Amino acid sequence: MKIPKTIKVGQFIYKIKYVNDEIRNSQGDRLFAQARHYEREIVIDNKSNVIQTEESLIHEIIHCLDAVYKFSDKDLPESIIERLGTSLHKFIQDNPKIFK
Ligand SMILES: [Zn+2]
Repeated sequence: MKIPKTIKVGQFIYKIKYVNDEIRNSQGDRLFAQARHYEREIVIDNKSNVIQTEESLIHEIIHCLDAVYKFSDKDLPESIIERLGTSLHKFIQDNPKIFK
């Protein structure tokens, strides 16, 4: 998977940044990556391996799509995004020519 420096989601451009610092959510849990909608950026822990980085990016892209396109009245549950991200990443790996 080729990871670009920016992605476009709807009318918004999100920067993709690699960070040295630990990424934590508001509960203090450590994360591999995080979509920051206000800043329009996705930060990825630069200690992640390639597979983890790809999966994290797809996971965060789904968060961005949900934030921009509002799939439902509430944010999608994390458990659904987890499954969507993992399955979509596997699908892209298994069908590498599909987007070429
Ligand atoms: Zn998430």
